[in-house]
Amino acid sequence: MKITGFRYGRLRVPLTTPFKTALRAVDAIDDLVVMIDTDSGHTGWGSAPATAMITGDTHGAILEAWKHHLAPRLLGEDVGNLNHLTALVQGAMAHNTSAKAAIEIALYDLFGQRYGAPTYRLLGGGEPTLTTDLTISVDYIDKMVADAIAAVERGYTALKIKVGKDIGVDIERVKAIHAAVAGRALLRLDANQGWTPKQAVRALHQLEDAGVLLELVEQPVKAHDIDGMTYVAERVTTPIMADESVFSPIDVIEIIQRRAADIINIKLMKTGGLSNAIRIADLAALYGVECMVGCMLEGSIGVAAAVHLAVAKANVITKIDLDGPSLGRFNPVACNVRFEDAEIAITEAPGLGVTDVQGLETLPN
Ligand code: MG
Repeated sequence: MKITGFRYGRLRVPLTTPFKTALRAVDAIDDLVVMIDTDSGHTGWGSAPATAMITGDTHGAILEAWKHHLAPRLLGEDVGNLNHLTALVQGAMAHNTSAKAAIEIALYDLFGQRYGAPTYRLLGGGEPTLTTDLTISVDYIDKMVADAIAAVERGYTALKIKVGKDIGVDIERVKAIHAAVAGRALLRLDANQGWTPKQAVRALHQLEDAGVLLELVEQPVKAHDIDGMTYVAERVTTPIMADESVFSPIDVIEIIQRRAADIINIKLMKTGGLSNAIRIADLAALYGVECMVGCMLEGSIGVAAAVHLAVAKANVITKIDLDGPSLGRFNPVACNVRFEDAEIAITEAPGLGVTDVQGLETLPN
């Protein structure tokens, strides 16, 4: 099975509720899609959103990377040589992790199709069901409480609360949500770099003293401030999770050795795809550090690949934050991963099992 060509598209899905964090507000899932064609007639699917504030990747940059740096290296290569192909992808250019991730997602899809098994089985297998949390966007307190209650009523047992805008209000937000859903849902806070180290310690002490038990706090301080994150981690009992601070396996080694975080958030758009995500999961497991698997605000193709990873690495990926597809008004992608609110399951179709993508806009080659 040899790679014969690349096609590109764009897939947009309006959101049920605008997605707001300390860094941005968005009202639609807006993915670029790559299709890798082969001489056997099989097509591999990958996708990537633009997250300029996090990875620096924009749609324009992703398309240029695909067309001029990644696709030319892969043309004519054999799908069965997966490790060689991922090395070509990772070595083709610096950074551009979202562009690389989408291509790797399509390659792992093809690899599964080549050997007639869903991708998670070729990553080592596992129990093909997961339970994800749901993101509660940062907003007025009453709106956040209402969203949290609605999520619990839809069956979510873990909520990821976005904070980091104004620390005084943040504490009130969390206390109000805790009062509304305590005992029914685990609470995860995501500050999205919104606090200083001292603010983070003060806020977390106030919450701990008020009896608000949090499962974790994600990225309380700036991405580059590893010392600041260590400062926080040393002073609070709430587990700290690194997100924007961690892109590569080498970042993970540093975070763990400097004791800056208790948990690592793996996202394919940060790691540059599955090959480095696998390395990170295995590194964290060596150190006995748990991982979450997360996603950007993105649709089902890319998130499906993260689901396959999480199932295969369930020994170390113990927390699932793959709510991207559930935030859309509809899911235009038919693939082998089923997203039903909190419940996610994989069927036995080979690769990522993509059979239909409705509303895909074709982009010129
Ligand atoms: Mg985060």
